[in-house]
Amino acid sequence: MNSITENLNHIHSSITKAIANSKRVENSVKLLCVSKTKPKEMVIEAYKDGERHFGESYAVEASEKIEQLKELGYNDIVWHFIGPIQKNKTKLIATHFDIVESVDRVIVAKRLDEQRPDNLKPLEVLIQVNISDESQKSGCAVSDIDELIKEIQSCKKLKLRGFMGIGKDTNNLDEITAEFAQLKDLFNKYKTSIADFDILSMGMTHDLDLAIAQGSTEVRIGTAIFGAREYKNKTMNDVKVAFIGGGNMSSCIYDSIIKDYDAKNITVSGPHLEKLEKFKQHGSNITTDNVKTVEQAQVIFLGVKPQILTSVLEEIKNSNISLDGKLFISMAAGFKLSSIYAQLQTHNLIRIMPNTPAKLGLGVIAVSYDSAVTDSEKELCKKMLSHMGECIEGDEQALNVIGAICGCGPAFVYRFMEALISEAVRNGIAPNDARKMVEQTVFGSASMVIKNQDTSIAALREAVTSKGGTTFAGLCKMTEGNFEQIMQNTIQASLDRTYEFEKMF
Ligand SMILES: *Cc1c(COP(=O)(O)O)cnc(C)c1O
Repeated sequence: MNSITENLNHIHSSITKAIANSKRVENSVKLLCVSKTKPKEMVIEAYKDGERHFGESYAVEASEKIEQLKELGYNDIVWHFIGPIQKNKTKLIATHFDIVESVDRVIVAKRLDEQRPDNLKPLEVLIQVNISDESQKSGCAVSDIDELIKEIQSCKKLKLRGFMGIGKDTNNLDEITAEFAQLKDLFNKYKTSIADFDILSMGMTHDLDLAIAQGSTEVRIGTAIFGAREYKNKTMNDVKVAFIGGGNMSSCIYDSIIKDYDAKNITVSGPHLEKLEKFKQHGSNITTDNVKTVEQAQVIFLGVKPQILTSVLEEIKNSNISLDGKLFISMAAGFKLSSIYAQLQTHNLIRIMPNTPAKLGLGVIAVSYDSAVTDSEKELCKKMLSHMGECIEGDEQALNVIGAICGCGPAFVYRFMEALISEAVRNGIAPNDARKMVEQTVFGSASMVIKNQDTSIAALREAVTSKGGTTFAGLCKMTEGNFEQIMQNTIQASLDRTYEFEKMF
């Protein structure tokens, strides 16, 4: 007998025993084999032992594995997605999985629904509930469950099947039991009113008995079947993060990171402790000592203004601390990778440039890597920024262009909106109404563009323009006024100014 077979036999007998001990109905708990990070050969082994339900946490890796197994003829595996969901991975997940257990917010539900291919049956979903408020950042807060359920029920291509919860990582069994009991109560509360709401996914290798005793209908087991996982590189939770500078952009990135990461592992340094109080309230460390902050961290965000960055880099250099294995992420505009390298003598550098809508999670973040940044560091960086919006990667020249289009862009759009509002007012509309009208028009137009990915924007424009009509008359004036030329000059001026800044640092 091979060891996966032995492990499976052992797990099945543990499940059977736990069911008997808690006087539950036979076969009332399903086994989900968690194969994340494990090769497809191991999935095949477990398949041959009769297993059909497999769980994965990393969308890209999993999608490849699923495709390969399908090509080999393993078509009746039920694939469960159980990991944290980044917004830009929803399409992969909606395309490759049968059930998603970790839906935790409305935007994710919406995107999964929109992106579920029409030829597949509805995607089954569980809501991941945050049952250990403190230690866990992922999962839907209990207070937000009603709203999320309503959203999922309005989605044609999603089917709500139950709840998933992850017990706190602690040796205190009473605490875990209390969390599982709480989730079971919640599950019972909704079960009566929602059709086919019958899956309660809780319990992993170390807390399977407790979960079954509290009413779990599905346990997610990885380690006890496939052995310990080896992560090739750093994962979020064993990385110490530092911010040099606690200003606006640092705050925005910080807020994104603590959505799935323990604030206790973050240190923020700045000259005025009283301005860092809000980070302390989240459980992070604050200090005025930049050098100590860098020394104890593996990922360092350089969040000071370009004019100050030179002196901060000098301070780090002169301290002679070792920078081995440290990743620096700079958000200083116009400050080139080569200028940072000149001070720190490391190519483990990333430049990022978020625009202001990142504060709402709707930003564009330009990302540019220096030569020594590894793939897993790139993933880590993007994961940290994932709650701010969409990352666009490129070289430093692309970063400048993205800066001009997306960094300055909001101001150009605001200017356009201001002009529309003042025309509305000039023609007799009350200022409040004018603002509302224009807000909704811009928001609606952007949504039309986003929701119609297969239609060109020109086609959308033509759809509201009939020859000789009112829109047509207006557009002709934009042409006469050289609108495209104005925008070309606008972007060029922003770019030229960027190049001037680059020469300063
Ligand atoms: C990895 C993982 C598991 C499996 O954990 P083991 O301790 O290896 O059994 C279960 N659930 C989720 C959500 C996971 O991410």
